[in-house]
Amino acid sequence: MGVSPGIGHGPAYVLAVSVPEPPEGATYTGEADQEKERATAALRQVAGELEARGNQAGGEAEEILKAQALMAEDPGLVVKVRSLIDRGLAAPRAVFEAFTKYRDVLAGSGGYLGERAADLDDIRDRVIALLYGQAMPGLPTAPAEPYVLVARDLAPADTALLSREQVAAFVTEEGGPTSHTAILARAIGVPAVVACPGATGIPHGVRVMADGTSGDVRVEPAESDVADAVSAATARQAALASARGPGRTADGHLVPLLANVGGPAELDAAVAAGAEGIGLYRTEFLFLGRAEPPSEEEQARAYRAAMEAFPGAKVIVRTLDGGADKPLTFLPAPAEPNPALGERGLRRFRRFPGVMDAQLEALAAVGSEDLLAMAPMVATAEEAGWFARACRAKGLPVAGVMIEIPSAALRAEDVLASVDFVSIGTNDLAQYALAADRQLSAVSALQDPWQPAVLDLVAMTASAAARAGKPCGICGESAADPAMACVLVGLGASTLSMGAAALAPVRAALDAHTLAQCRLAADAARSRTTATEARAAARAQLPGLGRLGL
Ligand code: PEP
Ligand code: MG
Repeated sequence: MGVSPGIGHGPAYVLAVSVPEPPEGATYTGEADQEKERATAALRQVAGELEARGNQAGGEAEEILKAQALMAEDPGLVVKVRSLIDRGLAAPRAVFEAFTKYRDVLAGSGGYLGERAADLDDIRDRVIALLYGQAMPGLPTAPAEPYVLVARDLAPADTALLSREQVAAFVTEEGGPTSHTAILARAIGVPAVVACPGATGIPHGVRVMADGTSGDVRVEPAESDVADAVSAATARQAALASARGPGRTADGHLVPLLANVGGPAELDAAVAAGAEGIGLYRTEFLFLGRAEPPSEEEQARAYRAAMEAFPGAKVIVRTLDGGADKPLTFLPAPAEPNPALGERGLRRFRRFPGVMDAQLEALAAVGSEDLLAMAPMVATAEEAGWFARACRAKGLPVAGVMIEIPSAALRAEDVLASVDFVSIGTNDLAQYALAADRQLSAVSALQDPWQPAVLDLVAMTASAAARAGKPCGICGESAADPAMACVLVGLGASTLSMGAAALAPVRAALDAHTLAQCRLAADAARSRTTATEARAAARAQLPGLGRLGL
């Protein structure tokens, strides 16, 4: 999977994982208190070093490394390590077990949270290396020529100090589009390919070419292949960059292109990519792994930073979407056999009035009409009405809801009666429409926004919004696919919101087609019976995509 565009080539530098697993059941001699102090001191030292590296790196890397430093001293983890030592385990083994338990929970939750597992593994390896008196895992600092960095996964501490002068591309076996490898690669402009099985089997030092757009990784490519790939990538970049300014179709129909963000670290990239505001601020990502709910002041600071990054533009902040794929410790879940069908999103939010009040008050405290509150996982008109009233009671003038449950799409008119706007979350809408768990790769073929049933639900919602004269945005991942973006506009979406990296290709795709072409593509897709046919039929109506290499 290509996650940061461009062609990178050079000798492979294969990063070895050199920190051994401390033996199972390893014990210590001496006092428990001393062993606990040794573990706590190592955690503190690693946190300090990560923080220092962050200060040195600055920018986006600084935010990420500081968040990682906080994880290293997470009170829950420290307590766990100390209690394992009390049960007789040596400090390195206690650290290993405490971190492994926590990382497995994260990895099992998939998506953005799952991709944070690599951060925890890195902290664990650093602490264990320190306790064993070994060198920290690391990278060459002054290579003879830029190398292609190959690893199982990369941690922020590995990549933060790298620059384009040192590294030509990243290739990792694990990770996804929202892993830190992907985020940092895009931030420093280095091509990156993730989820590339077997990559660490590439022999150290052989020449490798990675295409961060297509996801192609070639070992020992011919010189002429490298030259061809570089010139094709340069031409494609030039074509994409030629579309500028606000999102619009070739005939001037405006479609504001907004950014999906998960925290302050992503604001700069969104501004740099020309986002016209924020269409989805996933606030649960601000408060991961926290045992206590965030205070009103802390939240207000984060929301204010988003407003400052986009002066005069709309910023849509989604209230906490805890549960299922986004577990939040401070909104504890009841034991449920099917968490995706359980008490998640707005349902969970309503059960914790203190947390809810703090978030709505934090939004109100910012005091801007451009800061819009939006509720996730709304199933009924009653829920939408309840949320709108809760917002108004706190003095928030504008309230919207996500349409990501089929019942809300089917009765969009009723839902729209009490809110000011809707935004369609196609990730969950596909999950619930096709009854296909978004965390389960076995059913991923059904988890496809090109499924005609999903397109019908989008069409239904957009038409209801048009009749009500209210905006209908799209903030699911589907908006980041240039062909689908055109179809969504054809179906009646008024804004599209996506990760910053997708803004340029989507802007170029819209700029290359008229609204009538987008509508024809939408009709063509909906006239088919399978997702594959729907996609092919839509693309056949969108000739500009091929010209742009999209
Ligand atoms: C969605 O479900 O499409 C969405 C945008 O929300 P999330 O991916 O955060 O659940
Ligand atoms: Mg969702």
